Amino acid sequence: MSLIGRREPLGFWPTKMTSGEDMPVHRAAALGAAFASAVLLTAASKDSPATHGIDLAGIDHTVTPGDDFFAYANGAWIKTTEIPADKATYGPAEVLIEKTREQVRGLIQGAAKGHPPAGSDAQKVGDYYASYLDEAGIDAKGLTPLKDDMARIDAIGDKKALSSYLGSTLRADVDALNSTNFYTDNVFGVWVTQAFDDPSHNVPYILQGGLGMPDRDYYIDPSPKMEGIRAKYRAHIAAMLKLANIADADAKAQSIFDLETKIAKTHASREDSEDVQKANNPWKRSDFATKAPGLDWDAYLGAASLSDQQDFIVWHPTAVVGISALAASEPVAVWKDYLTYRLIEHFANVLPVAFVNERFAFYGTTLNGTPKIRDRWKRAIDSTNANLGEVVGKLYVAKYFPPSAKAKIEAMVKELLAAYHARISNLTWMSPQTKEKALAKLATLRVGVGYPDKWKDYSSLEIVRGDALGNIRRAEMSEYKRSLAKLHEPVDRGEWVMVPQEVNAVNLPLANALNFPAAILQAPYFDPKFDAAINYGAIGATIGHEISHSFDDTGAQFDAEGRLANWWTPEDLAHFQAAGAKLVAQFDAYAPFPDLHIHGKQTLSENIADVAGLSAAHDAYILSLNGKKAPVSQGLTGDQRFFLAYTQSWREKEREEALRQQVTTDGHAPAEYRGDTVRNLDAWYPAFNVKPGQKLYLAPGDRVQVW
Ligand SMILES: [Zn+2]
Repeated sequence: MSLIGRREPLGFWPTKMTSGEDMPVHRAAALGAAFASAVLLTAASKDSPATHGIDLAGIDHTVTPGDDFFAYANGAWIKTTEIPADKATYGPAEVLIEKTREQVRGLIQGAAKGHPPAGSDAQKVGDYYASYLDEAGIDAKGLTPLKDDMARIDAIGDKKALSSYLGSTLRADVDALNSTNFYTDNVFGVWVTQAFDDPSHNVPYILQGGLGMPDRDYYIDPSPKMEGIRAKYRAHIAAMLKLANIADADAKAQSIFDLETKIAKTHASREDSEDVQKANNPWKRSDFATKAPGLDWDAYLGAASLSDQQDFIVWHPTAVVGISALAASEPVAVWKDYLTYRLIEHFANVLPVAFVNERFAFYGTTLNGTPKIRDRWKRAIDSTNANLGEVVGKLYVAKYFPPSAKAKIEAMVKELLAAYHARISNLTWMSPQTKEKALAKLATLRVGVGYPDKWKDYSSLEIVRGDALGNIRRAEMSEYKRSLAKLHEPVDRGEWVMVPQEVNAVNLPLANALNFPAAILQAPYFDPKFDAAINYGAIGATIGHEISHSFDDTGAQFDAEGRLANWWTPEDLAHFQAAGAKLVAQFDAYAPFPDLHIHGKQTLSENIADVAGLSAAHDAYILSLNGKKAPVSQGLTGDQRFFLAYTQSWREKEREEALRQQVTTDGHAPAEYRGDTVRNLDAWYPAFNVKPGQKLYLAPGDRVQVW
């Protein structure tokens, strides 16, 4: 349950799909983000950090705050800002992401100087980056780095061999609850973490996969918009096959597309994927053959190094059953074409430039609306971050995250937890029994700030200069082995799921833990020199958001130990669910396009976290005043600054294609509606003189106060 979705300035969708390689720093693309003025000031006058943070020039005074608070807070900025050609979304956060990328480049280049010893961290990051950057060397090799894999696919002669090949593609490339990454281009993905019913043991969760487009809706939604994307996708498949000199490309593209459509029809919807009750399907190893006939499961699990694993949880049973059946019913020849295409696409970013450009034309431009591909060095940094994340992270925090920043944020976390404790204790609708359980959960919450206590070990990962594709392949395998090893190790609640140089934050429901990466704990989100109202409205609301995930509609189904267990009295649960239903209706009513509205249920966890987090941050802000009246600053009252800081922190411009994709595939509502959630807080009304009849006005009884 992260702060923001997995979108990226890169414009390549989906983030982890290509060779795990697109993920990194920029899940944050959308963070919208605070304080244009702060960023610009910092850029313009490096020595004088901003002492205030509200971007007064970005406010649109022609808009009534109560009609459209997002436009009021950000309208002037929106009117004068253009999304750069290499980005799908843009806000001042992009500036921060770019800055982080530049910092990381400096660190990598610095580390690589002076011929570091083979196997050292410095050798790894230096050679990984240099190899990715070497476009001429990559072009010269053509498809040679894929030759062995293509020969393996070519040799598939029967269902057993097909099953074995499919098993060999299984990777630890999904994460259903933390980063809410439901996408893998392999037919299945595995996520190893604590078991729903037994948080003291790790178990493999099996998730659906196998699609080239972001979600099942892209294959089955009958709208003209989606039909248009499908036509372009078929053309893209054919173009990739032609680049690889594969005969009958057009006919094969059609059959590959048809197979993917059949796979898509077995998939659970994004909304169903979020339902942990539907996901809690413990299967024994022997169940696969009886419940999901088709694949040769001995061959599949053997090739996946899971032969000895007895207990699984099948997150997506309809897809496991359906895809297994397709392995038997669809011709092996079609599967082979499909797998060849998937292989090329998976590594396309480190194949010759014609593949890179064709891939970008579909994933960047068609799916996200981004006109121009990002510079190669930026893609190389992002790939290094994705595959050597904590090696880079160690360098990053040593240089850019002083202990004083860690201490200040830890103090702020304590304040937010105290505010939360008070809110829960004072809830009038909740019974003492449920309160006791909720407070126990708050007490066991494990909060990580900046970076993990223990770094991951990359010693067995070999990085070879001049082998960009091999480096990615080995990194993915290394991550897979690290995940499988967890099946035989004690649960580690201190494990991090984000890297320190990522501009994001996350709640881990099964570990009952939070990660606040170092990169988000800086201006424009946080600056010790900012006025308190602004820090509480921005990073305070973010901290509150992540704490709240422990109590959102998903988080509230896990107890203090991370067990999937109902700790609610029936009356309290009914009240909680009714509040959630009101929030679903509130978000269902938002429509960015006439033919597309926000999915209130799909985004409920995040929307609960926003409202509850903002409320707790406001409480903590008021407490910090110690009974004194907040000073007026920048001509604004304390509450005005608090709410403007919050909604300016969601400032963002987004291309239409990217926005449509987000609405369809993301658990996070678009930034505009997250910024408008201030309407659920009573304190916002007097701060901006919001009156009945104004568009965002909610009668007191209609304001959703979940916690
Ligand atoms: Zn979240």
